[in-house]
Amino acid sequence: MSDLRELYQQVIVDHAKSPKNFGKLEGADRSIDGYNPLCGDKIKVYVKLDGDRLEDVRFEGSGCAISMASASLMTQALRGKTVADAEDSIGRFHALVTSPPESLVPESDLGKPAILAGVREFPVRIKCATLAWHSLRAALKGDQAAVTTE
Ligand code: ZN
Repeated sequence: MSDLRELYQQVIVDHAKSPKNFGKLEGADRSIDGYNPLCGDKIKVYVKLDGDRLEDVRFEGSGCAISMASASLMTQALRGKTVADAEDSIGRFHALVTSPPESLVPESDLGKPAILAGVREFPVRIKCATLAWHSLRAALKGDQAAVTTE
């Protein structure tokens, strides 16, 4: 388990250092600001839709390693999905990182973002991990107002 944990740590560090799909998305259909005042994480999530499919998802911003890695993993995992599938994944990611630390990590097809399940053991980090996901959910709903985790 500790080897696995180290591996997960490394993936998080790698994504935080060189996040995927980072930068402004020109021609985005939706964009929204997200802010986690607890940690100071700031993010902007962009979505380009093709019908009911997320053609492209990008983000920019700055924050701690968990917030950046989570946003990076999210964009990779949800790109190309339908809005309904994306919303479903957002719900499952939220359930995963907020479930009690002692509970088993539920089987899910969340893919890579599931490696962030470890934040369950660090309650102050949960909002770092969910910031991008909350922001994307709001963007998909068509919200304009900035998202804050408080
Ligand atoms: Zn943070």
